[in-house]
Amino acid sequence: MPGDGDEVKDQRRRVVIVGAGFAGLTVAKRLANAPADIVLIDRQNHHLFQPLLYQVATAGLSPADIAWPIRSLVRRQRNTRVMLGEVTGVDRERKNVIMDDQNIAYDLLVLATGASHGYFGHDSWAAHAPGLKTVDDATEIRRRLLLAFEHAEMESSASARERLLTIVIVGGGPTGVEMAGSVVELARRALAADFRTIDPQHTHVLLIEAGPRLLPGFPETLSRHAEQALRRLGVDVRLKQAVTDCSSIGVMLGNEHVAAATVIWAAGVTASPAAAWLAVAGDRAGRVLVGRDLQPPGMDDIYVIGDTALTHDAAGTPLPGIAPVAKQQGACVAAAIQARLRGKEAPPAFRYRDRGLLATVGRKTAVIAFGRLRLKGWLAWWLWGIAHIYFLVSLRNRLIVMTQWLWSYVSAERGARLITGLHTALDLDRRRRRDEDARLPGER
Ligand SMILES: Cc1cc2nc3c(=O)[nH]c(=O)nc-3n(C[C@H](O)[C@H](O)[C@H](O)COP(=O)(O)OP(=O)(O)OC[C@H]3O[C@@H](n4cnc5c(N)ncnc54)[C@H](O)[C@@H]3O)c2cc1C
Repeated sequence: MPGDGDEVKDQRRRVVIVGAGFAGLTVAKRLANAPADIVLIDRQNHHLFQPLLYQVATAGLSPADIAWPIRSLVRRQRNTRVMLGEVTGVDRERKNVIMDDQNIAYDLLVLATGASHGYFGHDSWAAHAPGLKTVDDATEIRRRLLLAFEHAEMESSASARERLLTIVIVGGGPTGVEMAGSVVELARRALAADFRTIDPQHTHVLLIEAGPRLLPGFPETLSRHAEQALRRLGVDVRLKQAVTDCSSIGVMLGNEHVAAATVIWAAGVTASPAAAWLAVAGDRAGRVLVGRDLQPPGMDDIYVIGDTALTHDAAGTPLPGIAPVAKQQGACVAAAIQARLRGKEAPPAFRYRDRGLLATVGRKTAVIAFGRLRLKGWLAWWLWGIAHIYFLVSLRNRLIVMTQWLWSYVSAERGARLITGLHTALDLDRRRRRDEDARLPGER
């Protein structure tokens, strides 16, 4: 049992992997036949395909369409044990991982705990502007979006209705762009005919980006295409404007107040606290600097990969926090560990093979940058769709997602329009009361 870090271990070495995201799961799968005990720890019981999370948040897909139980994914690996728990530290001296109230001993440790959203030091904004990282985040955003329409339908004050039908998305990277396209289509297509008092077509969706263009990691032509496509869909794109405050009644953009009931955060990213666990300085986003062997300097028994690690390409440019980087690093670390376990020569150091950048804008266009190739429009959209379906883990999920997409493409329906949460009715009342309170005195 791998629970007691101070037990006398048997002869087989133990590899502990923390995080069953793209990076950690790749390591675990590739160590299926390794002569070692593999312990895979995650605080969630499922592996999540984050690139389609925005579709759960906007009621296009259900959580189970893009998530799989970790246990079932490694079911056939006799050498692998899954543990559900939250890691809170690493005792490097005793070679233990600290998880909840127990220590897990390791011979080799892989930290692949990903990243989360960051609020640039304004953590209090999190309550008003949830970010999108987990299934819970997505269902919470879905709940807020759908509740806003329900409240608007029952609201008598025009200005309160306007606030309820204003949705602000902060951050013009791929998540913000995809979210904005999907939210506006939810409002103007899927919900268009379902209400009697309000007209969801009048929903005001704002996408706020502090920089001069959307999709800053993409070539400029594609950024422009995405911006124009969003504007055509009816999104109010605001560039070079930063959110300076965020509260339950909306956001401040410098001196301008935007009254909005729903604010979605797609701006900053903060790595998991792995740097603190290892007592090393992280970069600005908290990532652990690793060498091309994917190990922090001087730590021969520890690997850090995926969004938690800061790595560079051959030209010295930091690699982006995307799934292909995480997966390739996972494969590289697995090969290195296999070689160590079998006493073989170390494989070549990590070198990223570019798999391109993709983002979709609504259900008709997408942008793809792959090497020198620039693609936009419907062909890019189809390639984006095929790629995302291909990378889903199981055949079942591929079929489900494909069917859902085809159905909503022809019918505009969003099948997952559920407002979940035990206290929905209570929330409804509370929110209504809060909306009342938020109204300016003259409006009451
Ligand atoms: C909304 C969204 C959209 C995205 N879209 C794209 C896209 O279109 N294309 C693309 O390539 N990339 C996309 N990305 C980025 C991509 O998902 C990440 O780069 C990738 O998931 C990183 O993999 P990872 O294994 O490092 O981390 P993750 O996949 O985040 O996995 C980390 C795992 O560690 C677990 N964990 C974290 N902390 C602990 C702890 N303390 N104890 C135990 N377990 C812990 C988590 O539960 C999680 O399972 C998107 C990300 C988001 C959030």
